[in-house]
Amino acid sequence: AFPKIDGYVVTEKLGTGSYSTVYKAYTKVGARTVVAIKCVDKSRVKYSGTAVDNLITEISLLKKLTHPHIVHMKNFTWDDKNIYIITEYCCGGDLSNYIHRYGRVAEKQVRYFLQQLASALKFLREKGVVHMDLKPHNLLLHKGSDGKYILKVADFGFASYMTDAVQRSVRGSPLYMAPEMLAGQYDARVDLWSVGVIMYECLFGRAPYSSVSMKELIDKIQKQAPIELPRNASISPGCRKLLFGLLQHDPDKRITYEDFFNDEYLDLEHMP
Ligand code: ADP
Ligand code: MG
Repeated sequence: AFPKIDGYVVTEKLGTGSYSTVYKAYTKVGARTVVAIKCVDKSRVKYSGTAVDNLITEISLLKKLTHPHIVHMKNFTWDDKNIYIITEYCCGGDLSNYIHRYGRVAEKQVRYFLQQLASALKFLREKGVVHMDLKPHNLLLHKGSDGKYILKVADFGFASYMTDAVQRSVRGSPLYMAPEMLAGQYDARVDLWSVGVIMYECLFGRAPYSSVSMKELIDKIQKQAPIELPRNASISPGCRKLLFGLLQHDPDKRITYEDFFNDEYLDLEHMP
């Protein structure tokens, strides 16, 4: 059965994430605005008492992050069992289904997506927010009236509030995780690595480190196996340079935020 949430009519289930279930709903009063509601089971939040309060503080901060490429949080509420985060609804699915629907994404479109992602990251960085779980599943798409896709970053700032068991499942797939994160010592630069993996997956239809087993995958990342492009890869020099700048194992050799935002190929100044 769908959860009952005061003031909303839940109409369908949109997806299940690492620690929540997301539903589509509309507001009972007024314009019947369509929204998405993310239900987080309170028992999956660390040390029920204080962490729930912290989470609620964090959520109220996120409510203030308004940016065209960040999924906007409209409201939040809770009951005995769940915390409900009410956000704008994105009708185009997420980037993961987009990639799998088309197999791969044309370089020109990859650049549009990257510009949108970079502009969101620039804004988050100014606010001191690190995402830490960037992956195609957490990049939602909204289809504009002109049929063009608008990318919106979702699902950030919560991972640290989840119980260890939930965190292990969040970290279930290290596909998008920076090598230094596996070693446990990391900072905001992990997001740039993840952007590189997302860029690679868009261009070639699969992540740079695909592997048959989890152990082998972690091994490859830790041993810093060189990243290879598929044999038939044909991407422009600017695209290649940016991709390898992001996918540097050593965070000190990775492209810096400043250079990323000013990258000539990305050309953030002239995004459409
Ligand atoms: P989790 O934090 O549990 O991973 P997410 O916020 O990533 O949850 O949402 C899980 C899935 O639900 C997403 O991958 C997406 O397919 C769907 N979804 C989430 N939010 C929305 C939204 N605002 N509009 C449309 N679909 C959404
Ligand atoms: Mg998610």
